[in-house]
Amino acid sequence: MASASKPAVAQETLSYCTSCKIDLAHLIVSMKGDKIAKVECKTCKKTHAYKAPKGVTEVAPKAAKKKRASKKSEDGSPSATTIEAEWEKLMNTHRDAPFKSYAPKSKFILGDKIKHSTFGEGIVGKLIYPNKLEVIFRTDIKVLIHGGA
Ligand SMILES: [Zn+2]
Repeated sequence: MASASKPAVAQETLSYCTSCKIDLAHLIVSMKGDKIAKVECKTCKKTHAYKAPKGVTEVAPKAAKKKRASKKSEDGSPSATTIEAEWEKLMNTHRDAPFKSYAPKSKFILGDKIKHSTFGEGIVGKLIYPNKLEVIFRTDIKVLIHGGA
């Protein structure tokens, strides 16, 4: 294919056909700047938006990939959802424990559930000697003081 020359209306180009579902020769119908906007399939004669030929970009078979992705994303992704997942797990583990409202003068122990006026509901994940707590809130982990110094 002569893809080295600039594409122009009425020229032939290789595009993925949305009806035929394969890469086919198309005629350029319209341009957007120097990009191909619309093409007409030479096989089915349908006009549709230009799509880069799939043969170039597509690597893995789609069906096998999709099944995995939908199931894994809940606990497998190392993104911002990790804290929330951990938080949910802890909340679930300690679901019978009552909430204590946070005040710097109160004393907390590991696993205590805290209700904080700014950060919301959290759970004590770590005690830092002598008077600090690492509290896992829904979207963030905060270090708070306790025990009233
Ligand atoms: Zn077609």
